[in-house]
Amino acid sequence: MARITGAKCRICRRLGTKLFLKGTRCDTAKCPIERENRPPGAHGAKRIRLTEYGIHLREVQRAKKMYGVMQTQFRRYYDEAIAKPGNTGEYLMQILERRLDNVVYRLRMGSSRHHSRQIIGHGHIRVNGKKVTIPSYQVDAGDVIEGAKREKSQKIIKESLAMRKDMQAVPSWLKMVEDQVVGTVVTLPTASELQVPLESQLVVEFMSR
Ligand code: SF4
Repeated sequence: MARITGAKCRICRRLGTKLFLKGTRCDTAKCPIERENRPPGAHGAKRIRLTEYGIHLREVQRAKKMYGVMQTQFRRYYDEAIAKPGNTGEYLMQILERRLDNVVYRLRMGSSRHHSRQIIGHGHIRVNGKKVTIPSYQVDAGDVIEGAKREKSQKIIKESLAMRKDMQAVPSWLKMVEDQVVGTVVTLPTASELQVPLESQLVVEFMSR
């Protein structure tokens, strides 16, 4: 069995799934969960039999950890999603995916969501030509995401693009022109484009209690 090292990997292990908390390592065979060569959660499930409540709670914890969102903000997202007509779970996932830190990560401009939050906070990212330093900023269709023009910003982002070159593909609702360090939100993600390893229905059921 692979040894689970590091606090972030231990969170994945505890919640029984890959949460992509550690940058480029998560996309390689070095990920301890990959090295265990068994479905995520299978080992933990043998030790702990979760109640219905526990299963629902775990899914909420996975969502919060994956996107780096605290309880108050997560509740706000849920309240926003429930107020919309249609599928609350899908809408909630769309809100999470539309966070600027997630989009910067999906465009490969940051090595992880955490790293993306840092580079946004340090003023390295522009949205439609304006500096945005709020990681939770919600992007919209047509928004253009790019690195600030200064040398340091371009260097940080190009390093991340190079590191993640052959890793997770940029999703179809986004477009990245790597040599120009410019990404575009082509459209808002639909249910089929939300490739998120979370069961949004469980999250909604827990939050509606
Ligand atoms: Fe560690 Fe990333 Fe694998 Fe999670 S997905 S166990 S953070 S390497």
